[in-house]
Amino acid sequence: MTFTCIFCEIIAGRQTAQKIFQDEYATAFHDLFPRTPVHILIVPNQHIDSVNQLTDAEKILTGHLILVAQKIAAEKGLTNSGYRLVINTGDNAGQSVHHLHLHLLGGKHMPMMGD
Ligand code: 5GP
Ligand code: ZN
Repeated sequence: MTFTCIFCEIIAGRQTAQKIFQDEYATAFHDLFPRTPVHILIVPNQHIDSVNQLTDAEKILTGHLILVAQKIAAEKGLTNSGYRLVINTGDNAGQSVHHLHLHLLGGKHMPMMGD
């Protein structure tokens, strides 16, 4: 059976999504089920299951993902109002798509999570 991942399909353009950014290393698109007024996912173009699979070889890529998020947050006018970057990892965090992604959440006040 061929390995398929929904985010790999979106990155490759074989699955539709509201893409807002793409470069050689990363892609950003709107979450299908937004939890906040701004809810964007930033993903590496290369398939990496989760934070657990990151190695020193992905040091620059990992920083790039955060900088892409920072720039999109600025474009969305969130720099001063604030925003949250979330990376769910594994079952207890509720990771449902096993392709590393940062959630960029903003546009409303968000109480501290942890429940
Ligand atoms: P996780 O729960 O793994 O941290 O986050 C996965 C996110 O991907 C969820 O917020 C979910 O709404 C979003 N998602 C799942 N499938 C799709 C899809 O096909 N397209 C888009 N744009 N988002 C998706
Ligand atoms: Zn993937």
